[in-house]
Amino acid sequence: MKKQPQIKRIGAVIVAAGRGTRAGGPLPKQWQLLAGRSVAHWTCARFTQRRDISEVILVIHPDDAAHAASIKGVQTCSGGKSRDASVRAGLDALSENTTHVLIHDVARCTVPDAVIDGVIAALDTSIGAAPALPVSDALWRGADGQVTGTQDRAGLFRAQTPQGFLRSAIHAAHAAHIGSAADDVEVARAAGLDVHITQGDEANLKITTPADFARAEAHLEQTMDVRLGNGFDVHAFEDGDHVILCGVRIPHDKALKGHSDADVAMHAVTDAIYGALADGDIGQHFPPSDPQWKGAASEIFLRHAVALAVERGFAISNIDCTLICEQPKIGPHAQAMRLKMSELMGLDLDRISVKATTSEKLGFTGREEGIAALANATLVKT
Ligand code: MG
Repeated sequence: MKKQPQIKRIGAVIVAAGRGTRAGGPLPKQWQLLAGRSVAHWTCARFTQRRDISEVILVIHPDDAAHAASIKGVQTCSGGKSRDASVRAGLDALSENTTHVLIHDVARCTVPDAVIDGVIAALDTSIGAAPALPVSDALWRGADGQVTGTQDRAGLFRAQTPQGFLRSAIHAAHAAHIGSAADDVEVARAAGLDVHITQGDEANLKITTPADFARAEAHLEQTMDVRLGNGFDVHAFEDGDHVILCGVRIPHDKALKGHSDADVAMHAVTDAIYGALADGDIGQHFPPSDPQWKGAASEIFLRHAVALAVERGFAISNIDCTLICEQPKIGPHAQAMRLKMSELMGLDLDRISVKATTSEKLGFTGREEGIAALANATLVKT
């Protein structure tokens, strides 16, 4: 049974309703932290960051809504008592126009893109496709600590997820299935659907035991996409009675000259984020020649850069900004500046540093002709 639909619109169902505690710890494994975020967060991100997947349904236990609330880009629904019931709930939650679905175990938080690519590609010509690895170890049967027999491994595979299907076909297969199943391939085959085997990967770890957490964490840290950007800006003084730095109004006997509100510190931070994304600078996104930015609050620029980072799948890990000037004194205002930046960027206060130095009366900052600012931003792919 083969079918080739005209347009593929792919949804993902991530099954996370289990209460599994084999992995140890006080919480079900999908809510335990791995490299600072929950297992479910990492797993969802593998799917939400892809442009070829239109929707991601996270099937959770009704008690776990608070854990799931911080996961971006997913729609949650409540699962059932069994894995099968949870998958059915996830399938029911998909949009009507979704043609294909990838069903994935939440415990596989390190699934490589290539494994997902392989399943999606196979769905061009097959109604079902799932990744697996051939068994390479010898297989025994055993009882009471004794080998009681051997098993030929030829033709045996270790199944992985995501398992992909034509949505209508797996939906009907689940509706007709009686009893439990080890996975969705079993359900599909019981309904007579063909399932193509695609390339699995040893890196597609399934977290089951406490030791698996350490392996998954090491893998995430090795493959983490971390970007560093820097920004530098200078604005000259002109007549006035205050400056705005990191969004905070600071009384001064001069003002900063600029097309916008001349917030030199916020400009440096904004450019650091654009820099980490390798996406130009403020001048390219908000040309000074465009009159609509005259006198604009610089937080418009910062919010744009932060939104761009999120859109590209990055979380801002930290910001470090240094102001260089003799006057005004920054120290008394640094905390207010950090608070303002924390609020604007949606970042914890301990991820935002604002500090200052003088240039020992040397150069333009030493002569109090203006203020310079430099900033670094670290972005981490989530
Ligand atoms: Mg500027």
